[in-house]
Amino acid sequence: MKNIKHSWAEPYKIKMVELLKMTTAPQRKKALQVAGYNTFLLKSEDVYIDLLTDSGTSAMSDRQWAGMMMGDEAYAGSRNFYHLEEVVKETYGYKYLIPTHQGRGAENILSKILIKKGDIIPGNMYFTTTRLHQELAGGKFEDIIIDEAHDPENNHPFKGNVDLEKLDKLVKKYGAKRIPYVSIATSVNMAGGQPISMKNLKDLRAYTRKHGIRIIHDMTRVAENAYFIQEREKGYDKKTIRSIVKEICSYTDGATMSAKKDALVNIGGFLAINDWDVFEEARNMVVVYEGLHTYGGLAGRDMEAMAIGIGESVSDDHIRARVGQVIYLGNKMIEYEVPIVKPIGGHGIFVDAKKFLPHVPQDQYPAQTLAAEIYLDSGVRTMERGIVSSGRKPNGENYYPKLELVRFTIPRRVYTQAHMDVIAESAGRVYERRKSIQGMKMVYEPKYLRFFQAKFEKL
Ligand SMILES: *Cc1c(COP(=O)(O)O)cnc(C)c1O
Repeated sequence: MKNIKHSWAEPYKIKMVELLKMTTAPQRKKALQVAGYNTFLLKSEDVYIDLLTDSGTSAMSDRQWAGMMMGDEAYAGSRNFYHLEEVVKETYGYKYLIPTHQGRGAENILSKILIKKGDIIPGNMYFTTTRLHQELAGGKFEDIIIDEAHDPENNHPFKGNVDLEKLDKLVKKYGAKRIPYVSIATSVNMAGGQPISMKNLKDLRAYTRKHGIRIIHDMTRVAENAYFIQEREKGYDKKTIRSIVKEICSYTDGATMSAKKDALVNIGGFLAINDWDVFEEARNMVVVYEGLHTYGGLAGRDMEAMAIGIGESVSDDHIRARVGQVIYLGNKMIEYEVPIVKPIGGHGIFVDAKKFLPHVPQDQYPAQTLAAEIYLDSGVRTMERGIVSSGRKPNGENYYPKLELVRFTIPRRVYTQAHMDVIAESAGRVYERRKSIQGMKMVYEPKYLRFFQAKFEKL
């Protein structure tokens, strides 16, 4: 008897396909020059496999598409809003819901309500839009993630954990009154999709309760975090993803959600909160920035697709295939000796550009350079998560993040295993010629979130 492997596979089949354009190396070279070596500025038509982001790029199910036909496009009181409200309450347990056009819409409203000038917002690593809204509201972000998260080689199973001592120092230094909330991301994006453990969350809840500090949950990838808890944390292997997700949310006071990630829709988000006063203010403010509180910048059909997508996102079979595909790609890259962040995260592979291109100094943008080279090699589009994404401090100085990463983000339910092979092979090929790769200089820098629109030239 041969020892035959027991593979899992996707819990769906393909009903419709989207044709892709295959490009030649000279075409890609030209496209890259026009885009100023910024993968965000490439035309998606010129991209073969698009790993820029997992945001809004999911394939919706037949049920979600059917739901879109059930859109109730009334200005006020759309039935899709009430469906979404019921699903959010049932799935996540939060009491009150404000839909927004996407995650940052919720961040804007929440930051304006909770943050006063001079406040401190501790969090388990920054996220670009989240921190910017905290700063625009007059607050200052302080990183309280465990040190292991900043080390791409460290195999800690929960690199998204909070270091409670770091938090305690902040509380002692500034006083709990100046800390409106602790900002907790599940499946920490900027650390490489690394999870926070249930135990750490419980300890954090106990600590913050003692000091009267809220926990606001950036729940963009909560289901993926739940998968790692199921896999790695004692006592959770028999629990469903659905029940783990609900337990995570129960230790927090409210959440901002970009439904473009976990919730399997192309647009949408929300703010969810247990506190009536905050809800009331948010319900008022959403009218100014997004739209009436029963649509928040979304069409009725978008809210319906989101309600159905949330249900699908917490299915055990879905999440096993989703994260399983990411892990498959990561292991392929390791086979080709490409240096990646470990352990492999939930939504993508993060290549360590400092290790990949040790001869390129950080102010010559190693991760930006590597993302450009990968595109040139194969038409695979990735993105920089390093010094460019990190931006400047309010005083104008550059942030110098420890991590200089290229993110290969995997859209949900979109690409096949053969695509994963092509991606890993491309990274392997570029790695083989790494010594010949030179850095870049920035020739155009926008004021906000510069990584989206900055332009570069080869040195
Ligand atoms: C994408 C994202 C956001 C912002 O959401 P948008 O829908 O892009 O506005 C916030 N936090 C995290 C962790 C994200 O990944």
